[in-house]
Amino acid sequence: MSLSKNYNGYKSFQYLEKDIDYKHFELEDELNRVPSTKVQLDEDQEQLVRKILADHILISVHEHVGTFPKDIMQTPEYVKHGRMATAYEGLAHSHWDCVFDNLMDGICQIHSKGGWKWSEVIHDLGMRLCDIAHQDFIIHCKTGADIHQAHNEGKVAWVAVMEGAMMIENELDRIDLLYGFGLRSLGITYSESNALGSGLKEERDGGLTAFGKRAVERMNKVGLLIDCSHTGDQTALDTIKHSRKPIILSHIGAKALWNTNRLAPDDVLKACADKGGVIGVEAAPHTTLTPTHRRHSLDSVMEHFEYIKDLVGIDHVTLGPDTLYGDHVGLHKAYTAALSLKASKSHGKPGMEYEPVEYVDGLENPTEGSYNILRWLVKHNYSEEEIAKVMGQNTLRLLNEVWV
Ligand SMILES: [Zn+2]
Repeated sequence: MSLSKNYNGYKSFQYLEKDIDYKHFELEDELNRVPSTKVQLDEDQEQLVRKILADHILISVHEHVGTFPKDIMQTPEYVKHGRMATAYEGLAHSHWDCVFDNLMDGICQIHSKGGWKWSEVIHDLGMRLCDIAHQDFIIHCKTGADIHQAHNEGKVAWVAVMEGAMMIENELDRIDLLYGFGLRSLGITYSESNALGSGLKEERDGGLTAFGKRAVERMNKVGLLIDCSHTGDQTALDTIKHSRKPIILSHIGAKALWNTNRLAPDDVLKACADKGGVIGVEAAPHTTLTPTHRRHSLDSVMEHFEYIKDLVGIDHVTLGPDTLYGDHVGLHKAYTAALSLKASKSHGKPGMEYEPVEYVDGLENPTEGSYNILRWLVKHNYSEEEIAKVMGQNTLRLLNEVWV
């Protein structure tokens, strides 16, 4: 990032009148919701952190940078009003030059019970873009040049992403429309299957469908980055094979370390990297656990990072922490079904007991993640060049190949 951010205090929807134009919810503190442990460094290491921030671009390939209600149980009502605030203040205090924002995704139930409807996701995207159009700290990112501009000007490049393609139904042209509206990455499926392929919660994975193949071809032609983080393993392998362009697994971990279907087996991770793709390591509560770290922490997340780095090489790994501004564990409780958590969690399986946490210390939100992942890499003697690759360059290379 540039060493200081160019933020003037803008808050979402301040161009409207609270409780006249829209229902106001008391929102979460974006900076200090819970205590956070910062990775401690010596003076030489602090100097390297400052040099990296000044000279290199830092990208998170998976977050939700919306701000949630202080009372997380108000979220379903907040969602129904279709007006998710963006965490400008939180991002202004982060190190990220660029964040991939996955919008409301599995909780986008503005008027439907199941979510993912075309009208709902377009509402969500349009509302966020309207807010973004009223300020100049976040840049709606559509090209690699936008990321460099954000770094140079102390701003944040915001990439609009949707985690699953349910909303395109059987209409290929909706891929073009989403790109036209400024979307730059799309998941093949969320955890539930759709017309393109099988989601991770299915017992049988039928792979990429005939329609899914055409959708992949269209995404390649249009320049939309493909994500297989929530697909079944066969659907991921088929997508990687069929795609002319490399893909991303934006928020995932190694199934070899923790055997849940939310994480990927070695053959999927390798296939993604062999094709030139990039793998972002996940940090949402209770996902990237390991047998040696049964309490979710920065160390368990980074154990997945190191496993994947050793498996596929440092040129193909990055971070996609998948954090947000609000009570993430509380959100999981409020939306267990919509987020397919039962189908993807390990609790209670023999040998996979873990210690539940209220939040992941030091990785609670995108701001903390940006500090502590960088600091962890410095503390563990990664070189400046390696850190630059992992925290931004690998993704920039991928985007240069895919986005047109
Ligand atoms: Zn996800």
